[in-house]
Amino acid sequence: MVDLVSTTKETGLVGAGGAGFPTHIKLSSPAGTLIINSAECEPGLAKDLAILSERADQVLSSALMVAKNIGAKRIVLAIKEKHSKLLKILQETISVKKEFQAIELFLLPDIYPIGDEFLLVEAVTGRRVPQGGLPPQVGSLVHNVETLYNINRAVNKQTPITKILTVLGEIRSPGVYEVPLGISFGDIIAQLGGVSCENPRLVADGLMMGKPVSEQGVVEKTTSSLFVLPRHNRSVMRMSFNQEQVKRQGRSACEQCRLCTDLCPRYLLGYDIEPHRVMQAWCYSLLETPPLTMVFNCCECGICEQFACPMDLSPRKVCAILKEELRSLGVGAESSSPPQAINTFRQDRMVPTERLLSRLGLNDYKIDDLNIKKLIAERVSIPLQGAFGEQAKPTVRVGDSVKGGQILATPADDGLGVAVHSSIAGKVWKIDHRVHISAG
Ligand code: SF4
Ligand code: SF4
Repeated sequence: MVDLVSTTKETGLVGAGGAGFPTHIKLSSPAGTLIINSAECEPGLAKDLAILSERADQVLSSALMVAKNIGAKRIVLAIKEKHSKLLKILQETISVKKEFQAIELFLLPDIYPIGDEFLLVEAVTGRRVPQGGLPPQVGSLVHNVETLYNINRAVNKQTPITKILTVLGEIRSPGVYEVPLGISFGDIIAQLGGVSCENPRLVADGLMMGKPVSEQGVVEKTTSSLFVLPRHNRSVMRMSFNQEQVKRQGRSACEQCRLCTDLCPRYLLGYDIEPHRVMQAWCYSLLETPPLTMVFNCCECGICEQFACPMDLSPRKVCAILKEELRSLGVGAESSSPPQAINTFRQDRMVPTERLLSRLGLNDYKIDDLNIKKLIAERVSIPLQGAFGEQAKPTVRVGDSVKGGQILATPADDGLGVAVHSSIAGKVWKIDHRVHISAG
């Protein structure tokens, strides 16, 4: 049997769904249920659907290996019921191989953020993860589609050095693309024929949970999408505010209406998070009331900011800022207490994705073609720092020739970092917080 933990560690795999947690650590937790997260939660994204449409066999084979590794008896592929064409493909793929028949298709409603691990585990198993806890504490492990696809590649001796992205918006050729890690967003735009509006703004990883980026930004192991949007898009403008602006706006305009709390998906599921109280405390520096460790129950889904708040304020950003501040003071999530009762109004307050798409100004930008097209790069700049742990230590020097898939840096000794590999063959011409390589 393949040693999945060592293989994923050597190939530097991290969760491709966004958080970027090292895969080898996640694979070390035993769990009775493995959930393949195919919710494709962030509005506008289609890359997991494309992977399932083209490469379901690899994803399902990988799920079987992972299930064996963690001792899972139940394997669930959770996907939205609305994807009827893809569901047919999956049913056919499952019916062809006897071993795939152990995999159950679980149909999800089209609400946001159903792909959040806490909401997903509750939907599939009926169990709720403890506050400040993780899914294995209630016997579940959740893996994103692309992570499973990458595990399959790693097991088959193909170090995952490409990333699959949704490219959407004011761009000549939107679609789903497989690109080398470290390619710049500007290079992607140029290869796709350029933009179709003046002075657009670029956003990586979606409008709900993503961030503004520039053309010089590069594709990392966790990058899921590149949106090219008009400057005047309100959601993009809101996500560009800095900490000072967020505080000033909160002080002057938060009317404590508590809509952000009443629509917060984690609050509705019984978790101790009330963004209206977080706003009050942070904007007025009342940092002891309420206990601010409640921000660790926020999954940064963005409902409060991009959908609920009538004053265009940013409770999500405030939660994220506070999490960082608390962590820098050595304060983490409080111990695993059970959530409170599920809110009586939860069913009526869940947000349909269609309404969200319209609110975000994304209605005109849907992707129907799920074929994955490949892009190449003449230059890449590969980050040494992952989402967790310390920066990896370079094992190459300026002037070295490298091959695609060759190791460039080994993880620091903190146990959370991961190895870094080259995504193209070429020459290293600079090393800073990235390893810069030119093809040839
Ligand atoms: S919804 Fe907006 S205005 Fe209302 S309490 Fe929350 S942050 Fe304040
Ligand atoms: S981002 Fe806002 S709505 Fe989402 S979990 Fe955090 S506080 Fe709740």
